Amino acid sequence: MKILGKYLGNVVNIEKFENKDGKYYAYAKISPFYPDWKGGQLGDRGFINGAKVLSVKETEEWIIHELDKPIELGIYEVQIDENRRKDIAQQHTGQHILSAAFIHVAEIETVGFHMGEEYSTIDLDIPYIEPDVLNEVEELSNQIIQSNIQIEEIITDVNGANTYPLRKKLSDKIKEEVRLIKIGDFDISACGGFHTDYTGEVGLIKIIDTEKVKGNLTRVYAVSGMRALKYFQKYNSVLKDLSKLLTSSIDELNLRTQKLLNQVREQALTLSKLSEEYAKLLATNLQKEGLIYLEGYYEVGNFLWKILDLSNAIFVYFDGEKYIIASKKHNVKDVIKALVENYGGKGGGKEDFGNYMNNKKLSVDDFEKILED
Ligand SMILES: [Zn+2]
Repeated sequence: MKILGKYLGNVVNIEKFENKDGKYYAYAKISPFYPDWKGGQLGDRGFINGAKVLSVKETEEWIIHELDKPIELGIYEVQIDENRRKDIAQQHTGQHILSAAFIHVAEIETVGFHMGEEYSTIDLDIPYIEPDVLNEVEELSNQIIQSNIQIEEIITDVNGANTYPLRKKLSDKIKEEVRLIKIGDFDISACGGFHTDYTGEVGLIKIIDTEKVKGNLTRVYAVSGMRALKYFQKYNSVLKDLSKLLTSSIDELNLRTQKLLNQVREQALTLSKLSEEYAKLLATNLQKEGLIYLEGYYEVGNFLWKILDLSNAIFVYFDGEKYIIASKKHNVKDVIKALVENYGGKGGGKEDFGNYMNNKKLSVDDFEKILED
């Protein structure tokens, strides 16, 4: 792995310790733990004297290790999670390859990079990318991986760095040593993060999504290495489950799902029409005064209260879960308020319509009593 010298040690000198709000912080002037988000990269994890490192923060003066338990001041040998480093190196090298491929294929520049625990993103200086371009970039990236090019680490200074055809101009902040990561003739750029020794170790790069961000940039989501394999395993398993559930081959899943959705829409429409017709039929036999109490499907009740003449009546409809209450004679808002006061439950509504819910079912008499009061 290509790792800067200062992160290759295995010793840390804890010179200051802090216990703040139940969290433990160990301070060192220098540390082999790579800080979180430095250069857009994930930070190191591991152990210091048996205490688990939860986060690593770099300030001007200190490297601050957040630990899961307190430790004494002193010099310790540390254990760094090497599998995580390998994953970070795969994602970082993958990002260099992907960013360079966007230049080679379509002259699209990377203006931002972020490595997450699940995927990495690069922000590209373009508002939209054609799917064909994405495919070509993905193919070129994976060809570079398969060519297994040796990756070189060049340590130089600003003047030395500027003699190379750098993908991105050096930041003005860099004054002293410059570390270049060179992938054959394909890419060379300044970077302080972890990288693999050969492109082949990246294994696979897969673009998983794109999104327009900040008005005129495209964010590309990608996974490399073992993450790409895990991504493929997960999606393959979901697709297989779906194809079994829908009794369709994976190629025909789209069509099959579309068909099912259309069916559901049509059935919902039929159900709504039937409920309306049934409600009209019920309405012809209902009284015109006093309390009209009915039970049944919500859809039917919801049609009924709209077509009934309720100028001298109050309509109460129970669908097994909640009550529809409607009236032009009584103020429904007040009725629901009285129901809640007398029997508990909750509800709300307007002057002529509302909903009421109660864990226990009320009797017709219960409603009569409220209306009498
Ligand atoms: Zn890098």
